[in-house]
Amino acid sequence: MKTAMITGITGQDGAYLAKFLLNKGYNIIGLIRDNLGVNIKNLKYLYIDDKINFIKIDLLSLSNIVKIIEKNKIDEIYNLAAQSSVGLSFNQPIETLEFNIVSTAKLLEAIRITNPKIKFYQASSSEMFGNVKKENLPINENFLLHPISPYGVSKAASHWITVNYREAHNLFAVCGISFNHESVLRNKNFVTKKIINTAVKISLGLADELRLGNIKVYRDWGYAPKYVKAMWLMLQQDNPDDYIISSGEVHSLEEFVVKVFEKLNLNVDKFVKIDESLYRPNDLEINYGDNAKARNNLKWNYNISFEQLIGKLVKDEIEFIKREFKNKKSEKY
Ligand code: NAP
Repeated sequence: MKTAMITGITGQDGAYLAKFLLNKGYNIIGLIRDNLGVNIKNLKYLYIDDKINFIKIDLLSLSNIVKIIEKNKIDEIYNLAAQSSVGLSFNQPIETLEFNIVSTAKLLEAIRITNPKIKFYQASSSEMFGNVKKENLPINENFLLHPISPYGVSKAASHWITVNYREAHNLFAVCGISFNHESVLRNKNFVTKKIINTAVKISLGLADELRLGNIKVYRDWGYAPKYVKAMWLMLQQDNPDDYIISSGEVHSLEEFVVKVFEKLNLNVDKFVKIDESLYRPNDLEINYGDNAKARNNLKWNYNISFEQLIGKLVKDEIEFIKREFKNKKSEKY
């Protein structure tokens, strides 16, 4: 039985990856920053919270990471922990840079000094590329990095330190450069979750408007449960390499909103209000990725269209809100 250690296990991808690896027979060590019970709702939602060996740790402590690696026989480390919001990174740049970059470097250094055979996955991001000229799209693995947010900068530095440990110390260290991927477990501070959650609540009479910032941005949205398979596949290859993980489709946030409201038979003009105070200081206009390398080399077959994605997200959100409502009711009695 293989053992995988996941940082960021309480997040969207961490939960789906843990479920995927449990199904493959892995033993899972989940690193968490808070006392157990504080934030394992995603793992509970997938009914896997009792199948994980949780360890509380400060990921900025090299000696603590070393201790965990020395105590456990670990085959693979998936580094998903990060301050992951672009918007928040403009308000908390120092915390974002410090945690995202230094925790990655310390994990790599811990592997180098304890057991260089451990395979390492780094969650890189499309935000590292910044604004690419439309005529040069889609983005592939060889594009120049030019991030335009503190989050993007932190991911670019983490990306290059991972590549550096691979090249300088011969570690099996790889970066999955993911474009936006969504699910019902997406954190509430992300616009896609806000749109779907509020729209479903409007349809149930639980909310009466949706306020949004700039909806004239174009993105490449995928389905998170499918993306975690690509992460695993990257660590099963003969040679370490970096891959774009994307749907390969591009749509505007406006289209996203319209489709969600359409699925719920709601009049978008009646409920959606544009609020300029929600605009970011700097925003990517358009980005989408070329996933040919992942499809060809990893045999990763992503086959969910934008239309299907919105359908799934809306359906899952209805179930999510019903479960939330039921749980609140049973807590009362
Ligand atoms: P997420 O839901 O926001 O989860 C982030 C995880 O990081 C959570 O488990 C969180 O723990 C943990 N974390 C944050 N700050 C931490 C700190 N200071 N110390 C320890 N743990 C900390 O993110 P996600 O969507 O699953 O994304 C997973 C990774 O992929 C992230 O690195 C993200 O930047 C990257 N990525 C995501 C996307 C996407 O579209 N989802 C695209 C490209 C790259 P708590 O639960 O305790 O807060």
